This record gives sequence, structure tokens and C-alpha cells, in this order.
Amino acid sequence: MASAPVRTNNLEAFWMPFTANRQFKQAPRMFVSADRMHYTTSDGRQVLDGTAGLWCCNAGHNRPKIVEAIRQQAGELDYAPAFQMGHPKAFELASRLTQITPEGFDHVFFTNSGSESVDTALKIAIAYQRAKGQGSRFRLIGRERGYHGVNFGGISVGGIVTNRKMFGTLLTGVDHMRHTHDLDRNAYTVGEPEHGAELADDLLRIATLHDPSTIAAVIVEPVAGSTGVLVPPKGYLKKLREICDQHGILLIFDEVITGYGRLGTPFAADYFGVTPDIMVTAKGLTNGVIPMGAVFVKKDIYDAFMTGPEHLIEFFHGYTYSGNPIASAAALGTLDTYQEEGLLTRAAELAPYWADALHSLKGLPHVIDLRSIGLIGAIELEPIAGLPTKRAFSAFLKAYDAGLLIRTTGDIIALSPPLIIEKSQIDFIFDTLKDILTSLD
Ligand code: PMP
Repeated sequence: MASAPVRTNNLEAFWMPFTANRQFKQAPRMFVSADRMHYTTSDGRQVLDGTAGLWCCNAGHNRPKIVEAIRQQAGELDYAPAFQMGHPKAFELASRLTQITPEGFDHVFFTNSGSESVDTALKIAIAYQRAKGQGSRFRLIGRERGYHGVNFGGISVGGIVTNRKMFGTLLTGVDHMRHTHDLDRNAYTVGEPEHGAELADDLLRIATLHDPSTIAAVIVEPVAGSTGVLVPPKGYLKKLREICDQHGILLIFDEVITGYGRLGTPFAADYFGVTPDIMVTAKGLTNGVIPMGAVFVKKDIYDAFMTGPEHLIEFFHGYTYSGNPIASAAALGTLDTYQEEGLLTRAAELAPYWADALHSLKGLPHVIDLRSIGLIGAIELEPIAGLPTKRAFSAFLKAYDAGLLIRTTGDIIALSPPLIIEKSQIDFIFDTLKDILTSLD
């Protein structure tokens, strides 16, 4: 369905996020509709969604249960104040969610995005330690190459130079462990790399430097997505868990991309068999359709906040749209869709086919690594000297022209299709990429 051509002079007002605005506005790429696995562009072309939007549309697009849930809720209760008032959908959603979380996660705090979920989790961690009489535990530990959204807490614990360097001193009392990416030892791995569990000892090094009694929490993405799909080495997360247990440090998993089925399990915590104390989610919670995030905490954490005088608010934090009725309805429609269509099992079953298809790119020009886990894949390209990101971005443009949406981060192509993808569509993704990589400068 072709729509009116985009007029360039209409494009100036919108300051686009994480976008080269001037370049984009010279040659805009616009989607005007979407259905299941495909977007339709403003010039009427079909583009296969190889990235589930931004790692969020796990059930694909235009899914009837979600659309209908939103429509109904908008006509019934559009908004209710989030503070000192409630509405049934938020409570229903919270209960539904705590049925799919790992054991012990019986409470959930609602936000509107991954970034807000991260900052909420960091605040919960510090406030919890204080509530337990451990006010000296205020330090936070993140990791190099971590992405935890764009709010001040998130960029402080995050480890991406470009996202940090413009914004002053950030939070104080933050340290970073080393990242786990190691092409020398772990190139071309399917699933978890063999080498690098010992990198978890970096947590101990930092904790010892400051004294463990000053550390509130450590936050990691179980699988780092935005910095190019970094899968944890075998045993790494377990080791982090052990160090946290020994030293009273809370372990936070940022599951914004791994939550809700991406690895074929509800959460990465299930996949790796390591249970954190706090789990940060968003994206797939509502299939990306309405902004919403959710932070899950273990019972012990919730209970620590419930011990003061009953008439007092326990946690001075919240958003106007926390547990918004329409977002809650969208999330319930999303969970129904995942469950009725068995999408998590489907992702687990498709993962080996996906991995084989991805790894068939080995040996193509410029490819220096391939990594995969669940329905996530990464193709790392050799950077052009002096022109980092150029090669991958040019692959992105060529893929878009060929009818395929991919995502690039630095010199890495990241892939994360909706879990409804068919095998023939997986073939299309990798056949298209083969052609592109073969013809790339
Ligand atoms: N954490 C992780 C691990 C993410 O991948 C992202 C988004 N890509 C965020 C946090 C931030 O989420 P949002 O963009 O919804 O704020």
C-alpha cells in the first residue's frame, strides 16, 4: 500500500533519537505499516523484520489479541492515577507476570521503558540496603560495554564511551568490571563461549578495593545486546552469583532484551540457571506496542520496604504512567499471544536452525566472528581503518534496499527476529546477507 511521498521539508521538527539526523533527512527511510514479519515502506516495499523492531516485537506485528486488548481498554478505562489509586488490569498483569518469573520473584514495579526500569532497579538496590541497616552500601558496579539505557543511572553503570562522555560526572561511586568479549579465545561460538569465566573475579577485585561492605549491587546484561551480542562465558554468571552471595551484594540482571522469550525461555535467568535478586525488563513485555517496563524483585527485597509504619509510603519513587491501564492491557494481550502460540518453545526449537544458518556465513569477506544464542545472532565485521562503523552501516543500507531490516552497532550486525519467524524467512535473511557481504567494499 503506497502512501504519499515524504516531503523533506516536513522532517526538520523531529529531532530523532540515536540517529544521524542530517544524513537521515537527506534520504529518509520510513515505515508506514507492519504485519507479522514485515514492514511496509512509504514507497510500498516489503521489508522483513530481522530485528523485532528494536528487540521488542517478539510476537511480530499487528497481532490481533494485542490490538483488541488496547482498543477495548481505551474505551473502558483510559487512565487512572498511578499513586494512591489502583485499577484491576495492573494487578492482574502483576499476578500473571509473577507466574512466569523464576521462583521467588513475587513482586513487580511498573515503569515505561528499559531505561526507567534500570534506574528504578538501582534505586531499589540502594534503598533496600539502607532499609536493612546497611546504608554504607551505596556503590554500584556495572561493566564495560554494558548498555543500560540512557538515564543518568543507566549511563553511569553502562560502559559505552559515546553514551557517557558528553554528560559530565554522572553518578559517583560507580565502577566497571571488564567486558567478556574475547575474539582471540572465543571466535565463532554457538551459545556460551568456553573461555572467560574467570573475568567474574573482577567483581571481587573491585569489591575488595572499596571493601565489600560499601557495595550495594552489580548490574549486568545476561547477554549484552546493544554492544554487539556478547554471550557470557560458561560459568561466568554463576561465579558472579557466588561472589555476590559471599559479600552481601545484590545481583541485578538487565533482561530488557533477553526477557519474554528471546532465548526460548521466559528469562535469561531461566536459560542460564542463575537467579539474580532484581530483574529489569521492558520491550517484549508489551511486544513493543505500548511503552512499558517492569522490575521484578525477590520477596526479601519487597518485604524490607514493608516494615515501617503502615500509613507511610514505602518507596518514594514512581511514574505517572506506572501500570498504565492501556499498557497493562497490551501486556496481557501480549502474554496471551506468547502462550497461545507457544512462541517460547518455538524460539527454543528454531535456535539450532538459526545458529546453523548464521554460521554458514563463516569465511565470507570481512567476517571476523559469528555468535548466536536463542534467536539472537551477531556478525562482526573487520573495521575499515579510520572509518569505524562504515562497513556495517553500508550493509544495513544495502539490506534495507534488498528488503531486510538488520541492526548495526559499531562494526557488528545484530539480528533478533520476531519469534514467529519461519525457516524460509531465516533462509532469506542469511541468503540476503551472503550476497551483501560478498559485494561489500
Ligand atoms: N537495557 C538494555 C539491556 C537494553 O537493550 C535497552 C534498550 N535497547 C535498555 C536498557 C533501554 O531501554 P529503553 O530504550 O526502553 O529505555
